[in-house]
Amino acid sequence: MHRVTLIPGDGVGPEVTEATRRVLEATGVLFDWDVQDAGEEVYQREGTPLPERVIESIRRNRVALKGPITTPVGTGFRSVNVLLRQSLDLYACVRPCKSYPGAKTRYEGIDIVIIRENTEDLYAGIEFEKGSEVARSLIEFIHSRTGRQIRHDSGISIKPISVYGTERIVRFAFEYARRNGRRKVTAVHKANIMKYSDGLFLEVARGVAGDYPDIEFEDRIVDNMCMQLVQKPELYDVLVLPNLYGDIISDLAAGLIGGLGIAPGANIGDDYAVFEATHGSAPKYKGLNKVNPMAMMLSGVMMLRHLGEEEAADRLEASIASVIKEGRSVTYDMKPSPDDPTAATTSGVADAVIANLGL
Ligand code: NAD
Repeated sequence: MHRVTLIPGDGVGPEVTEATRRVLEATGVLFDWDVQDAGEEVYQREGTPLPERVIESIRRNRVALKGPITTPVGTGFRSVNVLLRQSLDLYACVRPCKSYPGAKTRYEGIDIVIIRENTEDLYAGIEFEKGSEVARSLIEFIHSRTGRQIRHDSGISIKPISVYGTERIVRFAFEYARRNGRRKVTAVHKANIMKYSDGLFLEVARGVAGDYPDIEFEDRIVDNMCMQLVQKPELYDVLVLPNLYGDIISDLAAGLIGGLGIAPGANIGDDYAVFEATHGSAPKYKGLNKVNPMAMMLSGVMMLRHLGEEEAADRLEASIASVIKEGRSVTYDMKPSPDDPTAATTSGVADAVIANLGL
């Protein structure tokens, strides 16, 4: 029996989470769910979208399955998701992008894993508003120390990249590659322009690579990486990236395999792991039983592997793959046309996946 924190989230979160809970239970693996609400309604009730009790539950259970959560706009809240990753030091975001035959995409045979650093870079949240006292003194300080003049009407975001943060994410990428029989790690950066942040990332990555002679290592400048991924994605295997590039390239790679509806993910630290789809709460589809639960289900497959339930993970992944291949019980985003009247519902996809599990 695995005790797991279950966060349905908001928007389409509860629908895709329920579909995922059902298919996970249908594998026969036993779960004791510790359900924790978070998100918009919780914000109305408890004054915060991410109460401490949610974080405490994950600390207790060490593993969570999480639906997407809307970041309330204009309330002064920073992203709930960023906060969660920082509170639990979930420093590695793992996003496998794998082609499933039958998925609607221009590409086939893609099998890339994106390892994104989750705690530093421009997402560290160290920002200064245009015209604020701190922004003004920072501008003056930089001018007095370097002679460089930043325009007074500038907003400023700081981009910290540390040796510590880089070393652990790159090591994580190589360990992941080793554990999963992968042959190559590519570090992605813009070291030619940002010498002291991305340059440091590249230098540290090269150093760590020396400890893994069995795995090939190379690096790519991020703009070139975008073009390469669109032109010859089959050349790439495991990518390791600082936070911002990792965020952007994750969506690009999701596009290569057929969209956000089938792009899973995990946020992993040394002590805790939170499994969630790459997509957000898609508020306009809330309550319609319409969106694709497969991204969340495939995040559930990753969770099963993390829990050591390899056989159940293989069966569930194979069942999802066969539903995709057959193309009948899939949601609108996987049909040839989005208004296809034969599109399955969110819960209908769960029914089909469960039916196939038994075959
Ligand atoms: P989104 O991913 O929620 O939706 C963008 C579009 O992608 C949708 O309109 C829909 O067309 C498509 N889409 C997304 N998920 C789908 C699915 N399962 N099946 C089919 N189509 C799907 O992105 P957004 O609109 O930029 O963000 C909405 C909210 O979600 C924001 O408040 C944002 O902060 C939040 N968000 C949360 C997370 C998270 O919880 N990890 C991640 C990203 C965004």
